[in-house]
Amino acid sequence: MCGIFGCVLNDGSPAAPLIHSSLKKLEYRGYDSVGIATLSDGKIFIKKDQGKIDEVDKILNLDDMPGSIGIGHTRWATHGAPLKVNSHPHTDCTGEIVVVHNGIIENFLELKSELQNLGHEFVSKTDTEVMPHLIEENMKRNPQLSLEQAVLESLKRVEGSYAFAIISTREPDKIICARNESPLVLGVNHKGVFCASDIPAFLDVTNKAVMINNGELVILDASGYRIKKISDGTAVTREPITVEWTAEMAVKQGYPHFMIKEIHEQPEVLRNTLRIQDHYLDLLSTFLDRANEVFFVACGTSYHACLAASYMFSKLSFLPTFPVYGSEFVEQCGKSVSIDTTMLAVSQSGETADTIAAVTCAQQRAATVLSLTNVIGSTMTRISRVYIGTQAGPEIGVAATKTFTSQLSVLAQLALKLSKKRGKISQDEIDCLEESLQKLPDKVETIVKTQEEKVKQIAKKYANAKVFFFLGRGISTATAYEARLKLMEIAYIPSIAFPAGESKHGPISLIENGFPVVFICPRDETHKTIIGNIMEMKARGAHIIAVVEEGDVDIKSLADDYIEVPKGIPSILSPIAYIVPLQLLAYFVALERSLNPDMPRNLAKSVTVK
Ligand code: GLU
Repeated sequence: MCGIFGCVLNDGSPAAPLIHSSLKKLEYRGYDSVGIATLSDGKIFIKKDQGKIDEVDKILNLDDMPGSIGIGHTRWATHGAPLKVNSHPHTDCTGEIVVVHNGIIENFLELKSELQNLGHEFVSKTDTEVMPHLIEENMKRNPQLSLEQAVLESLKRVEGSYAFAIISTREPDKIICARNESPLVLGVNHKGVFCASDIPAFLDVTNKAVMINNGELVILDASGYRIKKISDGTAVTREPITVEWTAEMAVKQGYPHFMIKEIHEQPEVLRNTLRIQDHYLDLLSTFLDRANEVFFVACGTSYHACLAASYMFSKLSFLPTFPVYGSEFVEQCGKSVSIDTTMLAVSQSGETADTIAAVTCAQQRAATVLSLTNVIGSTMTRISRVYIGTQAGPEIGVAATKTFTSQLSVLAQLALKLSKKRGKISQDEIDCLEESLQKLPDKVETIVKTQEEKVKQIAKKYANAKVFFFLGRGISTATAYEARLKLMEIAYIPSIAFPAGESKHGPISLIENGFPVVFICPRDETHKTIIGNIMEMKARGAHIIAVVEEGDVDIKSLADDYIEVPKGIPSILSPIAYIVPLQLLAYFVALERSLNPDMPRNLAKSVTVK
């Protein structure tokens, strides 16, 4: 996730100040590097560097660039560290073709080596840089091609997600944009045309917007905009719509809170997690394969992802792993850490002080440290041997939502990779799991689309409960812990979670008439036993709220309220889907209790103190 912006101004005013201020409004989408390119008198001008926009502006003075046409980028690195050389815009060998990009080019390694063999010189580690070189190559091979045709030809070779904005000295009067999966929207007014990742970028300047769909290419010039289909170049007619949002609503894309926006973003984020570079998964799984002892270390939501991952690694790769809280690691395991230990540290921000302290302890004892984080360039990526990114884009809601599902998707891929390496499960099973992983984003989308109303009603019914139980068995235990954390942190309802089998060892004594108990019930090997656990709760007057697989009549008939999740999600992947309605539950209960879910009391997004 990152922010792109471009403009063609027809009144001769300079583009750079507008690009600069618009990028500021997109900073919530990414902020590790920034860059602007403008066109003036047939020449390209570029300023870019790592760092936040204000920091870079102080040194480079971003407003001071000539030309009324330009593009800009505020980055959230996916490929290549946040360094100047990896900052956008990227150029071809001649410096005549300039590109900014939001997304991931999945086949960039293959394209890069093909282009390198043809003599193209690459300077960055990004996936994006293949695009200017591809365009250059197409124009070299066929000098008759216009910029637009060369872009269209190049797009035929690109797999993955993208919103591109491209300028070139070869046709210095225009910007070419294209979209597949990454967002792209146009703004128009009498002064010019704008392209951006999101409406807030230009809302100050105009509220007339044109949404661009997947598979579309746009040409922006002084006469306005033209939209075409990438597949066959046919023209598309689309009139601007009037956006009634305030600036504050626009940043949240019309959602009332970041939390609900981020819950809704999960299908897209999960699609991005499936674009992780295979060689990182391969490298990490090689380290895990060699390990004698593996600790998964994390805090809060990330710890719950680790807990679920420990089931995945055990079941898929036959690798025992020990999830440990960052804040407990030194006391609990510090002395036993040795050169034979491998630690996988997991933190959204990559700055969680407790997790970093555990990493430091492990390093001092010569252990191998691997990490999973959402922030490339964070402390954790700098101090670990190998890291992998969750590709979730910035998460602003304090209550982590897309963090959990994206971490789990990456961890599941890692467990599968290791499984393949170790030959522990059959190829059929692996194929089936891989197919299910691919389908998961759509299933999560179905949950968000079909269950939200239902969850709202359930939230209304139970909003005044004094306490909640969240129960699951097997991997759903992790889902239960995470669902309980969500409800507690934003709705302030004391909640208890534990593996359902533990009820009879103590907690069931709390149950009395009307006590709400949430059961997470995928149709897996725990299904029969969980029915028994539901029965024991019902017998004592508990109100059962069950998250079930669609069509699970057995549990539906026992539950007072139920939420349905689509069929066909393997147990091992179930937390990624089953947590979603429970994130919604926490959100709507918080609203029912007139609380602001984005600002839970006493909490901060990134916990950088021990
Ligand atoms: N993949 C590109 C990069 O790492 C774009 C990143 C993004 O869209 O966040 O530079």
